[in-house]
Amino acid sequence: MTDCLFCKMVAGDIQPDVVFEDDEVLAFRDVNPQAPLHVLVIPKTHIATTNELTAETAGVLGKMYLAAKQIAADEGVAEPGYRMVMNCNAGAGQSVFHIHLHLLGGRPMHWPPG
Ligand code: AMP
Repeated sequence: MTDCLFCKMVAGDIQPDVVFEDDEVLAFRDVNPQAPLHVLVIPKTHIATTNELTAETAGVLGKMYLAAKQIAADEGVAEPGYRMVMNCNAGAGQSVFHIHLHLLGGRPMHWPPG
C-alpha cells in the first residue's frame, strides 16, 4: 500500500528506530512512547485491521508475539512484566491502519485501560 505509513517503513522509504526484523515482521520504537519501553511490532504484509485477518494471514500474529516476547526479554522487562495491545478501528484508538502490536513496559500497568 503506497499510502500506508508502516508499508513505507517496510519498503525503507521511512526509517524508524528498528529493534527487530525478520522475513515477516518489523519492530521499531514508537515515536510517541507511552511507557519507557514502547515498541510497535508489525507484519511486513499490509493488513489494515484485525477485522481483515483470515485463516491464510493469521499465522503472522504468532510471529509478531514471538518477536515481542524476544524484545521484552532483550529490553529487560520480561520480569516484572509488560503489556501487549492491538487496537482495532478508531473506536478502540487505532490511528494507523496497518495492524501493529504495541509492546509496553518499564512502568506499572493499570487495568482497565482507558
Ligand atoms: P494506534 O493508535 O494503535 O494505531 O497506534 C499507532 C502508533 O503509531 C501510535 O502509538 C503512534 O505514536 C505511532 N506512530 C505514528 N507514526 C509513527 C512513526 N513515524 N514512527 C513510529 N511510531 C509512529
